[in-house]
Amino acid sequence: MKKFLRAFCAILIVGCSIWFVGCKDKKDDLTQIGQNLTNYHMEINYDDATKSLSAQQTIDYTNNTDALLKNIYLHLYVANFCAGATNVPVEDMYKAKAYPNGESYATLNIMRVKLNDQDIMPTYEGEDNDLMCISLSDNLEPTTSAKIYIEYSITLPNVSHRFGYTDAGVNLANFYPIVCVYDENGWSKNPYHYNGDPFYSEMANYYVNFTCDKDLVCAFSGNAEQVIDGDTAYYTINNMCVREFALMLSKDFKTVSKQDGDVSYTYYYLNDATPDKALQCAIDSINTFSDLYYPYPYSSYNVVQSSFLYGGMEYPMLSLISDAIDNYDDYLNVIVHETAHQWWYSLVGNDEYTNPWLDEALTEFSTLLFYDNNSGYNLNRNDMLKGMQENYNLFVSVYQDVLGSVDTSLNRKVCDYNTSPEYTYCVYVKGTLMFDSLYQLVGKNKFMSAVQLYAQTYAYNIATPEGLIACFEKASKTNLENFFDCWLNDKVIIN
Ligand SMILES: [Zn+2]
Repeated sequence: MKKFLRAFCAILIVGCSIWFVGCKDKKDDLTQIGQNLTNYHMEINYDDATKSLSAQQTIDYTNNTDALLKNIYLHLYVANFCAGATNVPVEDMYKAKAYPNGESYATLNIMRVKLNDQDIMPTYEGEDNDLMCISLSDNLEPTTSAKIYIEYSITLPNVSHRFGYTDAGVNLANFYPIVCVYDENGWSKNPYHYNGDPFYSEMANYYVNFTCDKDLVCAFSGNAEQVIDGDTAYYTINNMCVREFALMLSKDFKTVSKQDGDVSYTYYYLNDATPDKALQCAIDSINTFSDLYYPYPYSSYNVVQSSFLYGGMEYPMLSLISDAIDNYDDYLNVIVHETAHQWWYSLVGNDEYTNPWLDEALTEFSTLLFYDNNSGYNLNRNDMLKGMQENYNLFVSVYQDVLGSVDTSLNRKVCDYNTSPEYTYCVYVKGTLMFDSLYQLVGKNKFMSAVQLYAQTYAYNIATPEGLIACFEKASKTNLENFFDCWLNDKVIIN
């Protein structure tokens, strides 16, 4: 995600240096990699008149862990958007901005659940009943699968968020039951939180049939085949090796598209006097990070301008950019940031609830590297870093003056940051300053080798802070225990 942070005005244009020979032509074989992943089959009908959807969803869940599983847990994030929820999606200070017509809630109705074709009654856990637990009569052995069928209906809340509708259109993300991640700590059952992106997901394959009014323009994660019959549009989307599926709809979307290399790009926008610039920014971002880190593995990428409380939000092959960003350099900067998430969160996954800095800080630092490599934009690394440092120090001094102390540790869960500004200045700003300090410490070549090693090691998988640190230590042949301890544990003073 990207919070609104002031972009820092550009004065200097730094040299455009390419320090890594590009490798963007070597595409991964997603059919091969996706062979043993969990499969989501979804039939979704959306009714714009009632702002509601009905869905039948079959999940062929494959136990890719080493453990015998006694049950399977699924997140029901829509439950957190329902009336009376404890873990609400909008912090009090943002409510006026998020709800254009007063507070509004979703409804979620689960009509039928089957396990291996037999009707079952799942149990629900979590403060908001936002976890579905399916008990398995026989333990699920590693490499074997269970088939879960869920039939449900949802009405959308009137909220400018990842999930909800406004006059501008509809954002449908994090709306469907998704299997929790089972990792070395067992099932990850963290609930929704208004700070950051409280998500954690594994690679899976998605086979989606989506139906809606033909007057709606639809932007999906991935390419869609469209058939129109009468007033109804039928879409088919097949995505291999993705962490999630999301879509945005609006009657008012205009589009510009371009093929560049083997990736087709489309920019869906509501209001943009220079849409080709935004489209080119998406293309430049994909090409730059493909050169720097790892080849972009998909054949399409969509950028969508929509109503959104924050700056932007990342999904596989799709980035949501807020239509409320006034400054166009800031707007393009959010496109760069969200596109960098195609590497940090999407290709390389992580527990974004427990270690939000891991993807956010590397993503924000990646935006600085983007400007090093694309001198035609009005931002540059040195000015941005200078502004970040000044703003960070201002944040620390204000918090110290007002509260008497400030916690700037980075190794916290999203729920452990006391306020939204604290989260933003720690995870994004201090996190970026940390990666810049590391860049200065080990040097450009070793830094880039480390990030490439990190991408190669954890592509399509889940990374951890320890894994990232190990990659930097290996590539730089330097013990970085003390460095990361200081930055992550609130022991560093930034001047
Ligand atoms: Zn982000």
